[in-house]
Amino acid sequence: QRVLGIEGTAWAASAAVYEVDADEVTIESDPYQPESGGIHPREAAEHMSEAVPSVVETVLETARDRAADDEDRGPDDAPIDAVAFSRGPGLGPCLRIVGTAARAVAQRFDVPLVGVNHMVAHLEVGRHYSGFDRPVCLNASGANAHVLAYRNGRYRVLGETMDTGVGNALDKFTRHVGWSHPGGPKVEDHAKRGEYVDLPYVVKGMDFSFSGIMSAAKDEYDSGTPVEDVCRGLEETVFAMLTEVSERALSLTGREELVLGGGVGQNERLQGMLREMCAQRGAELSVPENRFLRDNAGMIAVLGAKMAAAGDTLAIEDSAVDSDFRPDEVAVSWRAGEPE
Ligand code: ATP
Repeated sequence: QRVLGIEGTAWAASAAVYEVDADEVTIESDPYQPESGGIHPREAAEHMSEAVPSVVETVLETARDRAADDEDRGPDDAPIDAVAFSRGPGLGPCLRIVGTAARAVAQRFDVPLVGVNHMVAHLEVGRHYSGFDRPVCLNASGANAHVLAYRNGRYRVLGETMDTGVGNALDKFTRHVGWSHPGGPKVEDHAKRGEYVDLPYVVKGMDFSFSGIMSAAKDEYDSGTPVEDVCRGLEETVFAMLTEVSERALSLTGREELVLGGGVGQNERLQGMLREMCAQRGAELSVPENRFLRDNAGMIAVLGAKMAAAGDTLAIEDSAVDSDFRPDEVAVSWRAGEPE
C-alpha cells in the first residue's frame, strides 16, 4: 500500500508518499514566506495554487518509481492506493485548493479519497512513531494549542487556548519587534542570551490564554527591556503554561505517556521543560522528528493510510473542506475495537 498525502492549511504547500509496509515517508514541501507581516490568507492561497500541483507531481514521480518495482502492480495500474488531504482546520481559501487538488488526483487514478483532520494528524504521527498506546498529546502549533487524549472513539480536548494559537502569539510579538515571519525560531534564538522577565501567566482550569502575555511582552519591549530578556520571559512563561496543563492532563487521566506535536514543538526549551516534568512523574515523553512537527504532508499520509485501511474514505460529493474542523469532531475509525 502506498498513500499520497496533501497538506496546505496555512503556510506549507506539501505533498508526501507513505510506503505503508516499509513505514517510510517522503515529503516535498514548499513554504509560503510573507514579504512582510504575518500570513495573508489571499497570498497564502495564491502560493498554494502555484505550489501544490508541483509538490504533488514531485512525490508522484517517487511513487511511480517505486510502483515500477511492485510485483502486484502493472504498468497501467495507479502508482498509489489512496489520496489523503487536510480537510481542516485552516485558512478556507488554502483548504479549498488542497481539496480540489486531492479530488483531481483521486479521480485521475480512481483511488479512494481520505479527508484528514490536520490537528489529529499532528498528534497521530507522533503517536505512530512513539509506539505509545494511550498517550496524552500536547499540540503546540501556529494557529492552535490543545491537550488531547483518546477516549471512547474520540480525541477529547482536555485543555485548549481560549484565544490565539501559541505560535501565532509568538509571531505577533516578533512582528511588533520588526522581525520577519515566522517568529518562533527567532524567539528561541534570542531567549538563549536573555535574562528572565516576569510576564502574566494565565491558566484557567485546563485552558490557557496567550493574548494578555503578548500585549505585556510588547509593552515590556516598548519600555526598553532588551528583546532577548522579553524572549526569555515569553518562552519560560508560555511553555510553563503548556507544561502545567500537560502535567495535569497526565495526572487526571492516569496516563504515563506524553506525545508532542505542532511547529512550536520544535522548540528545544519546550521539549526540555516537558522532558523534565515527565521525568519527575515517571512518565515518558516522545517528540517526533522536526519534519513531522511542523506542518507537513507526511502526517496526513500516515493518518490517511490508517483511515483508508479502516474504510474511512469520502465520496467526492461529501468531501467539502471545513476551516473550523475540531479534533473532537472526528470519529476515530482507525482505533475501533481498542479497549477503553
Ligand atoms: P496549525 O497546525 O495550528 O494549523 P500552523 O499551520 O501555523 O499551525 P505549524 O507548522 O504547526 O503551523 O507551526 C508554525 C508555528 O511554529 C509558527 O508560529 C512558528 O513561529 C512556530 N515555530 C517554529 N519553530 C519554532 C521554534 N523553534 N520555537 C517556537 N516556535 C516555533
